[in-house]
Amino acid sequence: MRVMKFGGTSVGDPARIVNLCEIVSAARSLPPVVVVSAASKVTDMLLTAARNAARGEVDAGPIVARVHGLLDAFSLARDLVAAELAGLDAALARIAAKGAADAEDTDLVASFGERISARAIAATLAQYGLDARPYDAFDVGMITDDRFGAAEPVADHAARLRAHLLPRIEAGVVPVVTGFVGKTLDGRVTTLGRGGSDYSAAVIGAALDCDEIEIWTDVPGVMSSDPRVVPGAHTIASLSFDEAAELAYFGAKVLHPKTIHPAVRRGIPVRVKNTFAPEHPGTVITTEGDRSARGPRAIAHKRNITVVHVVSTRMLLAHGFLSRIFEVFTRHRVVVDLVATSEVSVSCTVDREEGLADAVRALGEIGEVSVTRGRCLVCVVAARILTDPSVCPRIFTALGRENIAVQLLSMGASAINVGLVVDDALGDVTVRALHREFFGA
Ligand code: ASP
Ligand code: MG
Repeated sequence: MRVMKFGGTSVGDPARIVNLCEIVSAARSLPPVVVVSAASKVTDMLLTAARNAARGEVDAGPIVARVHGLLDAFSLARDLVAAELAGLDAALARIAAKGAADAEDTDLVASFGERISARAIAATLAQYGLDARPYDAFDVGMITDDRFGAAEPVADHAARLRAHLLPRIEAGVVPVVTGFVGKTLDGRVTTLGRGGSDYSAAVIGAALDCDEIEIWTDVPGVMSSDPRVVPGAHTIASLSFDEAAELAYFGAKVLHPKTIHPAVRRGIPVRVKNTFAPEHPGTVITTEGDRSARGPRAIAHKRNITVVHVVSTRMLLAHGFLSRIFEVFTRHRVVVDLVATSEVSVSCTVDREEGLADAVRALGEIGEVSVTRGRCLVCVVAARILTDPSVCPRIFTALGRENIAVQLLSMGASAINVGLVVDDALGDVTVRALHREFFGA
């Protein structure tokens, strides 16, 4: 069995949907379970509609037009998604009546993107002669907790998914399942978080113990760097789960970091493929990765990073300094990426504003706090970085050549990455210099 997940661009354009149908039709050697995202832009449009509804403006028009456009391209009846569009209208009307949209209302609205996709894609696949049938994930076992916007499957989700999906697959059905969405045990719709369809695919793939999870996207696999910054970036043929997680975490847009875990636990390879070029082998991510790989695999980066610096001479040599700082971050739900410490100071990078102002205020009671915005976090992801004495000198030689000052540095935490912070304006130059040094392009 294989899970084939198609992202927003793959299900958001008639030419791509044709590719999708050909790809799924050709996949019959291993019975496929198709997992779909919302058509590109639709989730954003839904979230905007929910916000507007909270201000009293109910307008699903742009979404309806987008969805009908896709159905019309395949001469599919608009009735196919009438119930979902009615559900969307009702949800928006309820938000408008209340004058506010909480996380639960927002999740319900956001869920319609995937629910519409599954119906449209199953109907298109049926035109190719497949017995494809649409399922809302929550009707086939994706039951979650009630953390709206970041829900997690409940403990027995795998058994539930198996019980629903296996008999259908055995009967020759190609299930087309919604990514991103779930439901609580008491029947309220949840979402797994932005980009969560990859996670859905991995959860379903792990539950079914399938042979491979394929993530079909609009780029040719996991790249050695962002091709918009480094035109000579190449596809990495194979990566270990740890390398891929590190890459995803530190800015490679192609995979949601959480995606990795359900697959890792069961040792299921995840293959990232390009819907626009199906013959390209893409990137395969496995537990072991490429055991013969030496040196850097990729240069990732994240922009708009904020550095929080806490100095406390009072705390000199005092124990508990770090734990007090991290307790503040935990309390305000601020996620820290990279940390560097000295005896009297700690520097951390964060990539979101949520909770930050409150955290900074609370940190002010521990020490003197400064906040620097507009930084870029660059990561060199390398196999066996700690035992390879050439990696660090080469990083600094390459940066020195371009006169790039490194403001913060961290290595060793994962044994496979060196993280550095530079001025945002130098982000591109830094990434290019490192890519040229290690990959010659
Ligand atoms: N449609 C959702 C989003 O845009 C989930 C996904 O595409 O993975 O975040
Ligand atoms: Mg995605």
